[in-house]
Amino acid sequence: MSIHMNSMELEITLKCNLLCDSCDRHCNFVDLPYFKDSDMTLEQIDKFKKEVVEKDVHLGRLRVLGGEPCIHPNVREILISLHDLTKSGNVGRVELITNGISDHEKILKSIPEEIAKATKVRKSPPKKKEEKHRCNLLAPVDLGLPAKPCIALTRCGIILNAWGYWPCGSGGSVARLMGDWGYVRYEFPSDVHETWPTLTTLCGYCYQGNRGHMPFENETDNIPTRSLWKGMTKWLKGRRFKQRRY
Ligand code: SF4
Ligand code: SF4
Repeated sequence: MSIHMNSMELEITLKCNLLCDSCDRHCNFVDLPYFKDSDMTLEQIDKFKKEVVEKDVHLGRLRVLGGEPCIHPNVREILISLHDLTKSGNVGRVELITNGISDHEKILKSIPEEIAKATKVRKSPPKKKEEKHRCNLLAPVDLGLPAKPCIALTRCGIILNAWGYWPCGSGGSVARLMGDWGYVRYEFPSDVHETWPTLTTLCGYCYQGNRGHMPFENETDNIPTRSLWKGMTKWLKGRRFKQRRY
């Protein structure tokens, strides 16, 4: 049986050349132990492609992002490799989501013209994000707000990064921050809700579902609420990091 999804994200790195306070992937927390191993390898990209073809997956768009994807050492090879999925009809279009600081034009000029033309570049300038700042370290459960999934599930879709598949970008980021690796999956998920039946629990620790109702929405100090603070503290106290990769 084939799998159809409007959108999905490849989080090819968590590294970024900006460290925005409002980063919902927590790319500004460079001291977290899992951070330095966040680059996806070319072998992982090949494995993903194989899964997509074998499981007859069809994606409207595949967003290549990070972190800042343009600073991944193999971003050219990744874009070239992913073009196979466009040619095979498994992916409608590949998008490169950049903060606009990196020289993405130089990257596109260094890959075959046909692939560069087919790659849609979207700039997601941090300035715009900062203007709409929402502190993302506020856990709804700590604030007595309801835990509810948000539009990210359909608008952005599942993500794959160096460790595996996650239901959504912000949710994956929150799960890692809290040390909860039980949300990672190693095979392409056929259905989000079947694959992650406890997703709503995770939403209780993710600000996205309550974006419009969060207090302190104009604050920029990013003080974490209790649950997220406990997760970060656990990591920063020096727990060793050993986690299977995709
Ligand atoms: S530019 Fe984007 S990915 Fe980088 S830290 Fe800022 S919000 Fe995060
Ligand atoms: S609220 Fe967070 S965890 Fe829940 S669906 Fe939205 S992004 Fe994912």
